[in-house]
Amino acid sequence: MMQLFRKDRMWTPRPLKSRYDVVIIGAGVHGLATAYYLTKLGITDIAVLDKSYIGAGASARSTAILRANYITAEGIPFFRESLKLYETLSQDLDFNLMFDQMGRLDLGHTDSAVYGLRVRAEFNQMLGVDSSIIGPDEIKDLVPAINLRTGQTLPIMAALYHPPAGTIRHDAVVWAYGRGADHGGAQIHPFTEVTGFLRDGNRVTGVQTPVGPIHAGTVLSATAGWSSTIAAMLGIKIPIVTHPLQAMVTEPLKPFIDKTLSSANLHVYVYQTDRGEVVIGGGVDPYPSYSHRSTLHQMQDLAAHVLEMLPCLREVKVMRQWTGLCDMSPDYAPIMGPLDGIEGFYMTAGWGTWGFKAGPIGGKSMAEFIVTGKTPDLIKHFGLDRFRTGRLVNERAAAPAAAIH
Ligand SMILES: Cc1cc2nc3c(=O)[nH]c(=O)nc-3n(C[C@H](O)[C@H](O)[C@H](O)COP(=O)(O)OP(=O)(O)OC[C@H]3O[C@@H](n4cnc5c(N)ncnc54)[C@H](O)[C@@H]3O)c2cc1C
Repeated sequence: MMQLFRKDRMWTPRPLKSRYDVVIIGAGVHGLATAYYLTKLGITDIAVLDKSYIGAGASARSTAILRANYITAEGIPFFRESLKLYETLSQDLDFNLMFDQMGRLDLGHTDSAVYGLRVRAEFNQMLGVDSSIIGPDEIKDLVPAINLRTGQTLPIMAALYHPPAGTIRHDAVVWAYGRGADHGGAQIHPFTEVTGFLRDGNRVTGVQTPVGPIHAGTVLSATAGWSSTIAAMLGIKIPIVTHPLQAMVTEPLKPFIDKTLSSANLHVYVYQTDRGEVVIGGGVDPYPSYSHRSTLHQMQDLAAHVLEMLPCLREVKVMRQWTGLCDMSPDYAPIMGPLDGIEGFYMTAGWGTWGFKAGPIGGKSMAEFIVTGKTPDLIKHFGLDRFRTGRLVNERAAAPAAAIH
C-alpha cells in the first residue's frame, strides 16, 4: 500500500561538511534523480546544493507531459527508457506521483505537418515506441470536444497517436527523488548558492558558496536555465540560450478530455488534470531572458489558440499563469558530460522545454557516468563536443517551436 508520509520529514537538515565525494549544483529533477541513482550505485557522500527552495527551477513549473515519440535515433531510445522508468517510479520511490498514462495526440493541419508526423511514426515503431497515424474520425472518437476545423483554415487532417504518453505530478517527483536520495545518505541543502569554483589548474576541486568553500571529488551542474552562468564561472561559453516559458491553468471542470493534445500549427498544447483543471501551454518567449514574469500577451495568445481547438472552453476562467526558464540548445537535444578541458566537472543541461520527462533516465545515466567514468551508450551522442564535430542530434522536428513539450 502506497504511503503518503505526510507527517514524516521529506529530508533531514544536516550540517554542511567541508568535503563530499560528489557535489551536485541544482535540486531540480535532474540533480535529485542523479543523487538518488548515485546512492543506488553505492555513492552516498553527496551534497545537493540549491540557491533556492527544492524544485524552485523549471522542474516544479513544468507542465509535466511525459512522452517518447521523438524523431531521432538518439532521442527516441533515450526518452523511451525514461518513460519506462516513470511507469514504475511511484512504486520505486514509494510515493504517489499521480502518474496518468492518458495518451497523446500530436495534431497535423497541413500536408507537410502530416508528412513529419508519418516520419515520426515510422521511426517510433522501428525503435519500439508505440505511436501511429490516425485520421479525423478516430481523433473525434478519442476527443469528442475537439473542433476538427473542417472547412476552416488549418483543418485537423491527422494525428500522431502515442498511447503510452502521460502526465505526472511534477513537484511530487522532485520531492520523492529528494526523499529517496536523502534516505540513501545524500544531503540536501536548499538556499546554498554556488558562486564560484575551487580549482587546481584544469581540475575542479570544489565549489565556493556564501558559507564557505566545499571540496569535492566530482562536481555536477544540473542547473538548466542557469547552466550558462555556471559555465561562465569556469570561463567557458556554452551554446545554450535561456528563454522563459509560460503556461496557465483554468478553474476545475468536470472531466472532458483524457488525452494530451498538441498542435504545432496552432501554437498550443493542452490537457486536463485529475483535479479537472485544464493546463495550457505553448512555445517559449521569443527573446532570451532570466525573467520569471508572466505576460498578458502570452495569456491572450494561449487562450486564442486553445479556443481554435477546444471552443467549449470559451467561458472558462484562467486561475493561474506562471513562468520558468528553459536552457535551449541549438539542436534541441541535451548536453551531458564534461566541458572541454575541465576535469572533475560534468554538466547535464540543454533540457529546454522537454527535460522533465528526461529526469529519470538523465539522472540514472549521469550517475552511471560519474561512478564508472564511462559514457553510457544512451547518452553518448549528447556530448558538448558535437558542436565542434558537427554531429548534431537535430531533435527540433519533434519539438516544433510552438508545442515543444
Ligand atoms: C512552463 C514550463 C513547462 C514545461 N513543460 C514541460 C513538459 O510538459 N514536459 C517536459 O518534459 N519538460 C517541460 N518543461 C521543461 C522542464 O521543466 C525542464 O527541462 C526540467 O525541469 C529541467 O530540470 P533540471 O533539474 O535540469 O533544472 P531545474 O528544475 O530548473 O533546476 C535547476 C536548479 O538549479 C538551481 N541553481 C541555479 N543556479 C544555481 C547556483 N548558482 N547555485 C545553486 N543552485 C543553483 C535553481 O535554483 C534550480 O532549482 C517545462 C518547463 C517550463 C518552464
